[in-house]
Formats: sequence, C-alpha cells, structure tokens
Amino acid sequence: MPTNRNTNTLGQLVALIFSRRLSRFTALYLLLATTIGLTLTFSTSAYAKAGASAPSKSAQEGQGPYTKLILRGVNLVSGEGAPTRGPVDIVIEDNIITNIVSVGHPGVPIKSQGRPLADSNTKEIALEGYYVLPGFVDMHGHIGGSADDIPAEYVFKLWLAHGITTVREPGSFNGLDWVLDHVERSAQNTIVAPRIVPYLGFGMGSDRPIYNAEQARDWVKATKQKGAKGIKFFGATRNVMEAALDEANQQGLGSMMHHAQLNVKSMNALDSARLGLTTMEHWYGLPEALFTQRTIQDYPSTYNYNDEQHRFAEAGKLWAQAAKPGSDKWNAVRDELIALDFTINPTMTIYQASRDLMRERNAPWHKEYTLPTLWDFFTPSRYAHGSYWFDWGTKEEIEWRNNYQQWMAFLNDFKNHGGRVTAGSDSGYIYKIYGFGYIAELELLQEAGFNPWEVIQAATLNGAEALGLDDQIGSVTIGKKADMVIIKENPIHNLKVLYGTGHYRLNDQNEPIQAGGVDYTIKDGIVYDAKALLADVRKMVQTAKTKSKP
Ligand SMILES: [Zn+2]
Repeated sequence: MPTNRNTNTLGQLVALIFSRRLSRFTALYLLLATTIGLTLTFSTSAYAKAGASAPSKSAQEGQGPYTKLILRGVNLVSGEGAPTRGPVDIVIEDNIITNIVSVGHPGVPIKSQGRPLADSNTKEIALEGYYVLPGFVDMHGHIGGSADDIPAEYVFKLWLAHGITTVREPGSFNGLDWVLDHVERSAQNTIVAPRIVPYLGFGMGSDRPIYNAEQARDWVKATKQKGAKGIKFFGATRNVMEAALDEANQQGLGSMMHHAQLNVKSMNALDSARLGLTTMEHWYGLPEALFTQRTIQDYPSTYNYNDEQHRFAEAGKLWAQAAKPGSDKWNAVRDELIALDFTINPTMTIYQASRDLMRERNAPWHKEYTLPTLWDFFTPSRYAHGSYWFDWGTKEEIEWRNNYQQWMAFLNDFKNHGGRVTAGSDSGYIYKIYGFGYIAELELLQEAGFNPWEVIQAATLNGAEALGLDDQIGSVTIGKKADMVIIKENPIHNLKVLYGTGHYRLNDQNEPIQAGGVDYTIKDGIVYDAKALLADVRKMVQTAKTKSKP
C-alpha cells in the first residue's frame, strides 16, 4: 500500500469502516498500514467498538482495604531478586505494606513469640505454605484490542485472576475517554480492575495528518493535557519521530513502539532508541538494527505487505538475516541499547501460534474462557489482520521456531549484560486470551534462558521501573503499595501453576488433578478471590454463547 495516501482516501476508508463492510480488525490494519507512512490522521472511534464499561464493584467483590491486614506464615518471593524466604508475616495498613517479619523456619511449627500483633481492627489471613509474589505488570494489555464489544469486566477479571495488578494500555484503541474513565475508577477502586497506565496511539484524535515537527509537538502536548501517560508509535518520518519523542520526554510521557516494516528502513529499534524512545514492543526493528549483509529485509519477489501470510511467514525468516550471536555487530547493538537505558517488551507470547498453531487453537482454556466474539475474531480470513494461517505448514512453523531461538538468545544476552526486559502479552489477538497469554509469556522468558527469579523480576519490578512506578509498586517491600499474588502452589518450581486452569499433574493418591491457579490477588490492599473472578468470567462466556446461538 502506498504511504502517501491523502486524507481524502483516508476519509473514504473511515467511511467504509463505519459502513461495517470491513471488519474492525481489517479497519485497524488498514488504518495503521495507511497512516504509518508520511501522514498520520485517524479518529479514535475508528479502532474498535468499545465493549460495555466495567460495572461498579459490588460489596461481595474484593474485601478491604483494611485498617490492618496480616498475611500469616507465607513464603515470600519479593521480586527484588531475593530468593524465597518463609514463613513470614506481612503487615498491610490500608493499601501500604508496613512490615515484613520473618517468623520461623520451614518444617517446624511457627512460635507465636515475635509475630506482629493483631488488634480488634486487624484482619488476619492464615496462609501457611502459600507463596506471595508482587502483583504482575502486563506491559502490553489492550482492554479489548480490535475485536468489537469485549466487555471491560471480562478483561479485568481475567487479568486480576492471573495476578496482574498493573497494565499498560498500549494505544487506547477503545478511545482515550473510555480508557481514562476506567483509569480513574480503578484508581478509586470502584471497579474490579488492575491499575491502568494509559498510552495513546500516535496521531489518534488528530483531525489532520501529522507531517511536520510542529504538529507532532502540538499533538504530544495535547495528549499530555488529556491525561495519557505515554505514546504508542508505529513509525513515522524521522522528522516527526524526532520531534514527537523529544517532546514526549520533555513532557514526562512514556513511549513505546511497534517498528512496523513499512518504516523500519528509516528507523529501526536502535535509531528510535537514540532519539529517546524508551520501550520497544514485540521484536520488529531489532533484527534490522543487526543487519550486516543487507540494509533491507530480503523479501521474495512476490511479497505483498497486505498479504498477511506473506507478512508473517517472511517475518519468520528475519532473524536468520541478522548478525549472529556474539558477533561484533550483535554486541555493539546490545551494548548501545543498554547504555541508552532501553527497555525491551518482547511479547513473545503473541507469536506463539506461528511456531505451533495447533497448540494455540486447542488451548484448554478456550472452552470455558473464550468469548465467541473473540473466537470469531481469531478465525483466519484474507480480510483480517493478524489471522495469517491461510496455509500455515510445517515449514513455516520450523522457520518460526528457529526465529524464536535467535530472538530469545538476544533477550537473554541483553538481560545478562544489564538490559531491562519486561513482560507483556498483547492478548486479545492471535488466539491469546487475557491473563492466560501473560502466563505463557513468563514461560517463554524461562525458555529464553531467564531463571524463574529473573522471570518474576521481569514481570514485576522491571515493569514498574519502565513505567516510573518502582517507588510505589513492583516488589513486596515495606513502604510500597499492597499489590500481591497469593498462590498455594510454588510458581518458582513451575510457572504453569499460575494459569487459571491450573497445571495437570498427579497428586499423591495417583489421581490426575489440575493443580494451582492463583488463589488471591491483592490490589491496593483489596483482597480478591481469584477463583471467584474466574467463575464470573465462565458465567459471562456461557451467557454469551447462549445468546450467540441462532
Ligand atoms: Zn498490541
């Protein structure tokens, strides 16, 4: 698609979108593909039809915050890199962690001496043997991405049920006002939801193309005024990117970028990091920064960017075109990104279908937790963006497995040399369901070479740091907010126990069971029963299925 479409064409496109002859997914894709070139203009409402706003929290949903809450006898994984220690008692006053006291040793009863005291206003929860981790940060969490009518309640409850207490909203595709309303209500805990850090897609809300530095700066300033905390870029001219990133940094706004292929030649991940970008999403732009044998990806002659199978299949051959691990180029790019304090938010989970489509389509949670609208949205179509398995075969999956290997090697090497890697899911696309997709990302980080302590740190403190919130959240530390994951099984031993559907294994009676699932999630000192949240979601899905039957 040419990158110099004029606004007239865009106007027609938007009209077409509203006429509903195109799916919302196609609409998003066309808008992105059209606008990431020389011009940027679109209306926020063109992205997705926002689902129902989250209903007010009922009295039965979540208990607290308490004047004083004591979690008794837990095993603590702090998120700061410290190993597990327990039993400890954790004292929470209102929404702040005010004390953490070691109260004994494993394998012997806890002596009462020295334990924090309860008074008549104290709520105590007996949790001996349970594990406590900091609340997770999903650095790429769309509250409904591009599918229509995804209820906010569905998304929020799946997130909280998987221990996710903070989410960076990458683009606010449901409209900034809709997102800001939820940001505010979540901050006041009048809805059941993680804390939300809203980013806005660059150019969204602008009624005209953004093609020069002045317009870019004006848009950034206006976005700050409206209340967004950061900007999601897809690519633009150097002029525009330079001005927008400079202004964003001056205004104290965060920045994230999906380096779309149409603009990656002029700006790869290293180029944008040098201009002040703080976080890159996915992986596009990184192999291109590592090219030594070419300057442009080696596309086949028949390649067409608007053919989704082309786009994803050729992407699967991209890391093979980059400098090899340990080469001078590899090391130089790695070291410069680290020196720039750059954050990589890989969202490996969202491409998992590329290496094993059957696994993703048949994941055990789809039956009870996937809304019919989402399932339809995932189904492949030549009109759709991201549903690229027109004819996805063994060869494509093998290429993607190889692609992952080098990508993972970079992430692990980046981490080992001091780089910050975070955890994000991009759920709501490509067979990934909210919450479940995030736990898969933790598993993939382990596969990349992170040990479980490093995985948990990526999922918690690193995300908080990248958001500039590490003084408030990201670890279980005295003085920080009470955001926590509580689970009976040991997630350090096996991350799979964090899936809402649990981990399939034998118990001591030789019976197969689904072990685990988060038991409680605490956000701002409010204790949510994770299993009850999941039951609510199952009910929503059941109702939606009944309604959608002809
Ligand atoms: Zn996304």
